[in-house]
Amino acid sequence: MRYDVVVVGAGVAGPIVARNVARAGFSVLLIDKKAAIGTPKQCAEGISVNVFEQFDIPYDRRFINREIYGARLYSPSGYTAELRYKKVSGVILERKVFDKMLAYYAAKAGADVLARTEALDVIRKDGKIVGIKAKHEGELIEIYADIIVTADGVESTIARKAGIDTYAPPHEFDSSYEYEMLIEGYDPDLIHLWFGNEVAPRGYVWVFPKDEDRANVGIGINADNPRTAKYYLDRWLKENNINAKKLLEINVGLVPVGGFVKELAKENVVVVGDAARQVNPMHGGGMAEAMKAGTMAAKWIVRALEEEDIGLLQNYTKEWWEKEGPRMERLLKLRRATEKLTDEDLDLFIQLLSGMDLEKLASGNYAEVIKVLLKNPKVIMSKRRLEILRALL
Ligand SMILES: Cc1cc2nc3c(=O)[nH]c(=O)nc-3n(C[C@H](O)[C@H](O)[C@H](O)COP(=O)(O)OP(=O)(O)OC[C@H]3O[C@@H](n4cnc5c(N)ncnc54)[C@H](O)[C@@H]3O)c2cc1C
Repeated sequence: MRYDVVVVGAGVAGPIVARNVARAGFSVLLIDKKAAIGTPKQCAEGISVNVFEQFDIPYDRRFINREIYGARLYSPSGYTAELRYKKVSGVILERKVFDKMLAYYAAKAGADVLARTEALDVIRKDGKIVGIKAKHEGELIEIYADIIVTADGVESTIARKAGIDTYAPPHEFDSSYEYEMLIEGYDPDLIHLWFGNEVAPRGYVWVFPKDEDRANVGIGINADNPRTAKYYLDRWLKENNINAKKLLEINVGLVPVGGFVKELAKENVVVVGDAARQVNPMHGGGMAEAMKAGTMAAKWIVRALEEEDIGLLQNYTKEWWEKEGPRMERLLKLRRATEKLTDEDLDLFIQLLSGMDLEKLASGNYAEVIKVLLKNPKVIMSKRRLEILRALL
């Protein structure tokens, strides 16, 4: 088999690359080891409503599970801050359908798509990478391509095999555990997030509603924690008297929340999405970042093919680090600062956050929020809090 481009992984990053490269008229093969693209999911499925227009994805009810109007935050002692918008601010997707439809759009644009096809290694010839070895429905195959895209998620092996350094220490990952389950009593128009060092060290517990009485209920904690994410999630359910015997799905997964890959293109190999650690370090959302990087990578892949100059792929690394790098580094700094917050700090900040623009905070444009916090007497009186907050400006 021979293509201009082979894309390993049909999560969200891979299909965007494949679709955009195919639209430019180049031959592309998108493969995924899953027998059904999108299944099983490892995701809470929440995403900003802006992504559909931004990445040219139809707002299709087949994968829009529920529209969301904001968020409610809960502090360790029970203070809440609610941000409710008049318009839809986000959606809870049905990722099993979403990922499959993204692959369908890639196929419609001209890409070939092969499910149940696992990339095993790269093929080298005269010291150069010329393709990948894969297993398609149990049969070993060789796929030759000018450019190889590794969009193979957090556990990415192909980028490493191609010589790209994707190592990040365990502390730069969140360990997640999630139930899709029946749950009642939480406003189904909002996402709900609980913070606290005893509740979810470094992370949060989430309820992302998929119905009036059904939600993704999960947790993310630092992966180097001696206790498991499941321990904390089950304890939270018990303490809140939530029946944990109506579980429709159980998902486990790692989320990279730091350790952005420095070299995003090496010769003719390009790495995107979770494989490149392109995830928002503050909230662990990676779908929008994966699509953004995928769009950027596709642009440079198309230029490299048009101008027959593989060296142009380096511009993907350059552009990502110039346009996205500073924002992501700021969010990483913010994440590291929040790791030092005590439960008392979290109580205070959530009280103060009430009424502020959470979207600003989440997108990295949080300076105004910090300035407001810095004016509060309870912050001014605490040298430690002042230091943490000032470090963020
Ligand atoms: C529990 C949990 C909850 C999350 N919640 C959210 C959320 O609410 N919102 C959000 O934005 N993000 C969330 N994320 C993060 C989000 O899921 C990822 O950032 C996003 O899926 C990254 O997309 P990707 O395309 O890079 O990788 P993935 O979606 O992981 O796709 C990688 C694909 O590559 C395939 N693959 C891997 N190895 C091979 C191989 N060797 N050969 C062939 N195929 C291969 C896999 O089967 C997979 O389909 C969550 C993550 C977890 C674990």
